[in-house]
Amino acid sequence: MLAGPSGVGKGTLRARVLSDIDNLVYSISCTTRAPREGEREGVDYRFISKEEFMNRERQNLFLEHAAVHGNFYGTLREDVEREMEAGHDVLLEIDVQGARQIRELLPESVLIFIAPPSAAVLEERLRRRRTESEEQIALRLENAKKEMEQSSDYSHVVLNDTLERASEALRGIVLSYRNETDECQ
Ligand code: 5GP
Repeated sequence: MLAGPSGVGKGTLRARVLSDIDNLVYSISCTTRAPREGEREGVDYRFISKEEFMNRERQNLFLEHAAVHGNFYGTLREDVEREMEAGHDVLLEIDVQGARQIRELLPESVLIFIAPPSAAVLEERLRRRRTESEEQIALRLENAKKEMEQSSDYSHVVLNDTLERASEALRGIVLSYRNETDECQ
């Protein structure tokens, strides 16, 4: 599972790792956030209303969920269970609150924190993507500080300095767990 501050490049890394590793599937989260330009329903997220989100929460349909930067995000329990039963490894890209919940529920999960090279680089990346208002950028940077403080709770920290290096490190981590599992069988 990938966690880390907004703007750190989790999405890009995720795409790279998914195309590089067989049998790894991405769990598409639900969110109450409005789609950004270019984002597609059912591909990037399932975009749902706040009301629908609350409804699903009441029905206990989420494996984990959290309020992040003023919106709600959640992973559907059924999606993860279906893929795990089919023998796939499931990649979640979630925030640190969700990571905490997953750690408790599925202690065997592999938690990977994606860290930016510096606060300045993170700010630059957030500004460059031009998808957030000034207010949202400030909120995301503030939250990033808190998230960074929790990075030591993770099994691995990958520094996203260059896409090449970080995706290679990530790939190595995922494959090392597979080898370990194979050796135990
Ligand atoms: P964004 O709005 O930039 O797509 O995502 C904001 C934050 O929410 C990111 O840190 C992202 O990883 C996190 N996030 C996305 N989906 C989920 C989810 O299903 N659960 C949780 N807990 N966080 C999520």
